[in-house]
Amino acid sequence: MDRYVVAGNPVSHSLSPEIHARFAASLGEQIEYGRLLVPEGGFDLHLARFFEQGGCGANVTLPFKVDAFRFAADASARAKRAGAANFLALRAGRIECDNTDGAGLVADLSRNLGLRLAGARILLLGAGGAARGVIAPLLAQSPGSLVIANRTVARAGALARLFGDLGPVEACALDAVGPRAFDIVINATSTSTKGEALALGPGIIGEGGFAYDMAYGACAKPFVAAALAAGARASDGLGMLVEQAAESYFLWRGGRPETAALLAQLRARFA
Ligand code: NDP
Repeated sequence: MDRYVVAGNPVSHSLSPEIHARFAASLGEQIEYGRLLVPEGGFDLHLARFFEQGGCGANVTLPFKVDAFRFAADASARAKRAGAANFLALRAGRIECDNTDGAGLVADLSRNLGLRLAGARILLLGAGGAARGVIAPLLAQSPGSLVIANRTVARAGALARLFGDLGPVEACALDAVGPRAFDIVINATSTSTKGEALALGPGIIGEGGFAYDMAYGACAKPFVAAALAAGARASDGLGMLVEQAAESYFLWRGGRPETAALLAQLRARFA
C-alpha cells in the first residue's frame, strides 16, 4: 500500500491523517497515512529513512517547511518562490517538493467563501513561513493591492521586495496599518495559535470587510469573534487546511477529492 506521513513537531494534533483517509475512501483508493514526529535537527535523517523504507510522500508542518525545501532535490516554481515546502513526493528516485498552502488559501477564500480576489484590497498580517507561502498565489489572483504588515517590519519589507515583480505589494509595520479600508484581512501571524492578542488599530477590520485567520478551531475564535463584533464577516483557516490537503492528494495521486462534505463535518466538530 502507498505510504504517506505528515512530518512535524508536534504532530499528534494533526488532522491530516484523518483528512487523507477520507479523501482516499471517497475516491475508492487505499493508502496508508500516518504521523512522523521529527526531533529538532533530525529532519533529513528521518525523512531520508522514511523514503528509503518505501514512503511515497510527506506533508510537512511546523517547524520544518524550510528544511523540507532544502531536503528536496527538485522544487516547483511556487516552492522556490516561497523558499519553503509543505509537500514532498518521491518520483523516479528523486525527492520533489512543492508548497500547497497558497493554493489551499485561495481555494478556500474564492470557492468556499465566495470572495472575489481580483481587484480586492488585501491586508496580510505576518511575514513568517505561512505568509511567505501564500503571497505569490494571492498576487496571481490580481488583487488591487496587497499590504504585508508585520511586527518586525524588516521581514515584511524583505517579502515585499522578493515578490514585488508579481504584483502591487507593499510593506508596513503592524502598528502602522491604517486607518485604511481593506476588503480582506488575513491573519498569518501565530498569535491565535499562541493565545496572544493581536494589536491592530481601530477600523482596519470593519463593516463590509472579510477577516480570515489561518489558525483554526478554538484558538482562532477570539480573532474571528472580534472581526464579527466589528461588523465584518469572518472565517478561521480550517478550509485552507482541507484545501491544501486536497491539492497535495491531487499532486501525489492524480485524483482530486471533493472537500465540501468533509469540511462541513470538521466545521461542525469545531463549532
Ligand atoms: P511563523 O512562526 O513562521 O511566523 C509567525 C508570524 O507571527 C511572524 O510574522 C511573527 O512576527 C508574527 N507574530 C508572532 N507573535 C506575534 C505577536 N505577539 N504580535 C504580532 N505578531 C506576532 O509561523 P507560520 O507563518 O508558520 O504560521 C502562522 C499561522 O498560520 C499559525 O497560526 C499556523 O497555525 C497557521 N497556518 C495555517 C495553515 C492552514 O492550513 N490553515 C497552514 C500554515 C500555517 P515577527 O516576524 O515580528 O516575529
